Amino acid sequence: MLSIFLKPGRERPVLNGHPWVFSGAIERLEGDSESIGVVDVHDHKRSWLARGFYNPKSQIRARVLTWRKEEIDRDFFARRLSHALAFRRAHLDDSTNAYRIVNGEGDFLPGLTIDRYGGFLVCQFFTAGMAVFKNDIVDYLSRIDPVEGVFERSEGRIGDEEGLEPSVGVLSGQSPPDLIEIEENSFKFLVDIKRGQKTGFFLDQRDNRAFLSAIAQGQAVLNSFSYSGAFSVYAYGGRAKEVVTLDSSMHALELAEQSLQLNGFGDSPGEILKADAFSYLKEIEQKFDLIVLDPPSLAHRRGDAAPAAGGYKFLNLHALKHLTPGGVLLTFSCSQHVPLDLFQKIVFGAAIDAGRKVALIKRLGQPIDHPVSLHHPEGEYLKGLALRALD
Ligand code: SAH
Repeated sequence: MLSIFLKPGRERPVLNGHPWVFSGAIERLEGDSESIGVVDVHDHKRSWLARGFYNPKSQIRARVLTWRKEEIDRDFFARRLSHALAFRRAHLDDSTNAYRIVNGEGDFLPGLTIDRYGGFLVCQFFTAGMAVFKNDIVDYLSRIDPVEGVFERSEGRIGDEEGLEPSVGVLSGQSPPDLIEIEENSFKFLVDIKRGQKTGFFLDQRDNRAFLSAIAQGQAVLNSFSYSGAFSVYAYGGRAKEVVTLDSSMHALELAEQSLQLNGFGDSPGEILKADAFSYLKEIEQKFDLIVLDPPSLAHRRGDAAPAAGGYKFLNLHALKHLTPGGVLLTFSCSQHVPLDLFQKIVFGAAIDAGRKVALIKRLGQPIDHPVSLHHPEGEYLKGLALRALD
């Protein structure tokens, strides 16, 4: 088996449970350095620390799977998967049939995400090592939780950084239909598993949508960066007076229109707008009682945090300017590289420039099916602030 030995002092994060070993922390390697298989991680004195996957093409050379001397085999994945699935089953009720079964590092399975959409699973294998166990993982899941089909969407930035070829298609069972109808808190949505953003739906916003619904009664709502309109459906569900649903993607808005109809809100007051949210927020005169600001990640790398801050500030500044007195802004950042304290500072700066006094009424984040390992704080990518404007 491949072994790596860390430079003196670089063992601390691994001992503390952080799953990533960067190339710069490695002093020496024994075994086949081109291997993508299992690796044992040692400190510089040759003491065994952990076991994980090695990838010579990635800056994150090793991703730790276990801090115990256990075999990384089919049974190992069976244990981790059953643990992850049991937790979701115990904590999500029948009103929701779309949720994340495996959330990478947060389920101690770095490089793996698995989402359930009704009768279908969507898997993403983001590391070369995890991809080796693809069949074992799919076989095991199909046995303990039979579904109509399993679809793979291993593509995008993380896979690119790992030097992985994109891999998209049916892994087992039937091919999913072009649109799947799912239920979330008893609301219905159409999900495009094959072509939609992420794995088809932003499952991570479930709790925050429920919060919006609870405060939407009688409110004029702007749902900007709406994607398939999920916040809009919840707003109408909470008896909002009117809802503007805005996104730059036509495909997303077509889904939004269909999802609104599916829930009986097709003729409700409001509009669906294809627009650039930055220009829209700057140019409109209209004011809203409730604004959702959920842009895509503006910082993809650590070095992007500073330029991203400008984007977040612009959006929040203009959103706050368009809030009625007493209005509420739900503002989000889904960038791993913009931590909560920085995000809050950016929004504070935006409030000052907008000339508004705002109070924090709730911090918003990831739901229980998107757990974050305390040893890997980078996993807490979604953060949000619910802010109420004084006057
Ligand atoms: N709130 C959504 C998820 C938002 S994802 C939900 O709950 O499902 C971010 C969305 O922003 C994507 O749908 C993307 O198409 C859209 N987007 C990206 N850039 C944009 C821009 N400049 N103006 C408007 N929408 C944009």
